Amino acid sequence: MIHQSAAQMADALAKGETTSVELTQAHLDRIAAVDGQVKAFLHVDTEGALAQAKDVDARRKSGEKLSPIAGVPLALKDVLAQKGVPTTAGSKILQGWRPPYDSTVVSKLKSAGVVIMGKTNMDEFAMGSSTENSGYGPTFNPWDLTRTPGGSSGGSAAAVSSFEAPLAIGSDTGGSIRQPAALTGIVGVRPTYGAVSRYGLIAYSSSLDQAGPFGRTVLDTALLHEVMAGHDVRDATSINAPVPAVVNAAKSGDVKGMKIGVIKQLQGEGYQKGVQTRFDDSLHVLASLGAEIVEVDCPSFEYALAAYYLIAPSECSSNLARFDAMRYGLRTGDVDGASAEAVMSSTRDAGFGREVKRRIILGTYALSSGYYDAYYGSAQKIRTLIIQDYAKAFTKADVLVSPTAPTTAYKIGEKVDDPMAMYLGDVATIPVNLAGICGMSLPAGLADEDNLPVGFQIMAPAMQDQRLYQAGAALEAALLSKWGAPILSKAPELKGAK
Ligand code: GLN
Repeated sequence: MIHQSAAQMADALAKGETTSVELTQAHLDRIAAVDGQVKAFLHVDTEGALAQAKDVDARRKSGEKLSPIAGVPLALKDVLAQKGVPTTAGSKILQGWRPPYDSTVVSKLKSAGVVIMGKTNMDEFAMGSSTENSGYGPTFNPWDLTRTPGGSSGGSAAAVSSFEAPLAIGSDTGGSIRQPAALTGIVGVRPTYGAVSRYGLIAYSSSLDQAGPFGRTVLDTALLHEVMAGHDVRDATSINAPVPAVVNAAKSGDVKGMKIGVIKQLQGEGYQKGVQTRFDDSLHVLASLGAEIVEVDCPSFEYALAAYYLIAPSECSSNLARFDAMRYGLRTGDVDGASAEAVMSSTRDAGFGREVKRRIILGTYALSSGYYDAYYGSAQKIRTLIIQDYAKAFTKADVLVSPTAPTTAYKIGEKVDDPMAMYLGDVATIPVNLAGICGMSLPAGLADEDNLPVGFQIMAPAMQDQRLYQAGAALEAALLSKWGAPILSKAPELKGAK
């Protein structure tokens, strides 16, 4: 049962062949069997999940009209507030915090009858690309437990690729949904900025953050996308427009006559050979399906990484000021006579990890009066140039494509002490965030040299998310018939798995 797609599970539920309680229990059993090795979850809400499952079964029995994925279980990145359930954003500073409210994404999941099984591991405050910056230890890639699943939403991606959950939610500030999807052989989508409410999403970099879906198929991801997206008055940057028809697009995948633009700057040098080969193969497949492949030039992308690593830390230095020992979670140094400043400083020292401190310092420096124009101001100008590059490219192509990440999954410990090397892994994903547009990563096969999954990235203009699904579903179907089975079926089975 757990190896099916979410769409198949939903179908079985609708036909009465199984119940949500049964389905949820099967996944909780899987978690109990394999999560000791994968460590995708920070918190498993066994009781809460079974109660939600029971409730949705009762709603179905009473004849209530339910969402298409009602009763299907899901794993939630620990960056989203869920009422009464421990929420840490992967940080020690939030240890013990139980939010008094639901984020909008969680409210939407609950009213859609989706069962939330627990909170998944992540890089602290979503800062990182490997989940190694979590305050609670790393998550391990189910394809090879000595490797990282990517990040920052590595727990969510690992949960879906290890069949602990059919669906998961991540957040993508600079690639944190697409890159772990690529490294674990699943589908991940970063929707258009403003399409999914950020209310209750613990802020890292507010102008870049966006929550989005993970699934094992393009259609599953679309089903979750439609449930979680939509306008929200509680988020001032939320777009007041209908959710693009992504499920229809995923069902009618077609690229005949579609113009697909290959970004010159996002391939070749710096990309692992096996990654480039699978990317090129996928382009041939798309061409054979009737797409027109063109090359597009985005010269400002060269500066995207530098601009991102000024803007994101700048915004985080302001957003993380709220963790002041007075309001949430941890408090240390609170001895008789200690000043508020001393308690604050002791708590922030104990509660924040190395990477978070590094970024707060970097961001504070970039925003300081003498350096503001030189650093933050210049980075914002680059952001505008990147938006212009995309606008021009989208006059030549309906969607743009690139490899999702320059390499396959690397070893735990390989880059964690070299932040620059880690940052370079975001080179292909970051431009999407800077421009506020949407992007998808889907599996393009395994790299010849290491047999690890490679991600193919598709990008579309703002609020044209359906194009990602239309092209993605066509490529997925063609690759499936080429390989004869989903790529995830080639992953080794975990020890103790039933
Ligand atoms: N790796 C990038 C960073 O560290 C992106 C993270 C993300 O998308 N949350 O900032």
